[in-house]
Amino acid sequence: MATIVDHEKKKASLFESTQNIIKEALGYLGGDTATYELMKEPLRLLTVRIPVRMDDGTVQVFTGYRAQHNDAVGPTKGGIRFHPDVTEEEVKALSIWMSIKSGITGLPYGGGKGGIQCDPRALSMRELERLSRGYVRAISQLVGPTKDIPAPDVFTNSQIMAWMMDEYSEIREFESPGFITGKPLVLGGSAGRESSTAKGVTIVLREAAKRAGISVEGARVIVQGFGNAGSFLSKFLYEAGAKVVGISDAYGALYDPQGLDIPYLLDRRDSFGTVTNLFKNSISNQELLVQECDILVPAAIENQITEQNAPDIKAKILVEAANGPTTAKATEILTERGVLIVPDVLASAGGVVVSYFEWVQNNQGYYWSEEEVNEKLEKILTQSFQQVYQTSIDKKVNMRLSAYIVGLKRMVEAVKIRGWV
Ligand code: NAD
Repeated sequence: MATIVDHEKKKASLFESTQNIIKEALGYLGGDTATYELMKEPLRLLTVRIPVRMDDGTVQVFTGYRAQHNDAVGPTKGGIRFHPDVTEEEVKALSIWMSIKSGITGLPYGGGKGGIQCDPRALSMRELERLSRGYVRAISQLVGPTKDIPAPDVFTNSQIMAWMMDEYSEIREFESPGFITGKPLVLGGSAGRESSTAKGVTIVLREAAKRAGISVEGARVIVQGFGNAGSFLSKFLYEAGAKVVGISDAYGALYDPQGLDIPYLLDRRDSFGTVTNLFKNSISNQELLVQECDILVPAAIENQITEQNAPDIKAKILVEAANGPTTAKATEILTERGVLIVPDVLASAGGVVVSYFEWVQNNQGYYWSEEEVNEKLEKILTQSFQQVYQTSIDKKVNMRLSAYIVGLKRMVEAVKIRGWV
């Protein structure tokens, strides 16, 4: 069984491999040592302690973080995660990945990320509200619509964003919808935000399939994770005529070479993305990853594809909807085996793109239809994919390194032109 120490080691190694790839990418962009020293860590990291009055009258103190990677291009932006395993290293790595996502998609942002060590499933709604408001009070000096704009991430949702926006507006004494994205529609949320990550994954998956000569219609796809990203993605792929042969959640996996009945599974899943516990013939997540398929989409957690299982993966395309699902060693093995990898910083960028649209709409006070949102998302992600794909061919590098080269380019220019390095 994995221990807490194992878990922290894995997160530290994710952070280290992010730093390694930044160094490598900067080599292609003419970045010097000072540029690397500046970009290898967030510019700012705030640790906060949040006292929360629990329903039974006792006080529990939670630890939270907010990291701001780099604001040379514009305000920082990124989600807030509520999870028992949140660590400083994880928040730092995630803030860097947000910078890369914004760079690839050309958004006027740097990366930010926040998190609170907590298990939201063990909290009542009132406790969750007090914790969310307490976090905003603790970080309010550091964030704001033109400084750092939070959003939802793992185990946070539009209700939590609504409480946070309300708390921030109270502190600032004016209505501040642009402080946070992923809000409910009635408070200035954007049409299409909820399914935007999965929409984005669908767009880049289609582009990758084209390059690999695979038709999405009829393609056999395995999706690991059936939460926000994985379930919407399974739905979109099913509707596009793909054969979703495997899905999974934290408790197990289902695999059927004939294709699963996705509408039925969507109907039966609970709000935490769990469905496999309803079936007797489930297999393990590790077994699922090496089953026959054309396209594999990890959409659950980090470190799922490693040097142990990479040699046995059958997919021709790997689309990383989750953040950090593949280790550096596994990336090497898969690339050598000719698997086309669409890295996380590109594949899961749909969420931040539509978050950006939400912020633009809040600033303008003018709201778009879902069709307009989807059309603009489609345009940005198709171009982003092409840019990363072409750079990987031109520079003869794998898609992950190519994504970092494209993603860091504008930030390198901005820190130079501002005279920081
Ligand atoms: P979620 O919490 O809604 O769903 C997670 C899913 O993964 C659930 O089905 C859960 O049962 C499953 N899971 C949890 N632990 C697992 C384990 N050990 N093995 C296998 N499955 C497990 O989360 P989400 O929002 O869908 O996010 C999934 C991934 O996508 C994360 O890496 C997240 O950072 C990334 N992502 C999400 C968004 C978004 O907008 N939702 C945006 C960018 C990236």
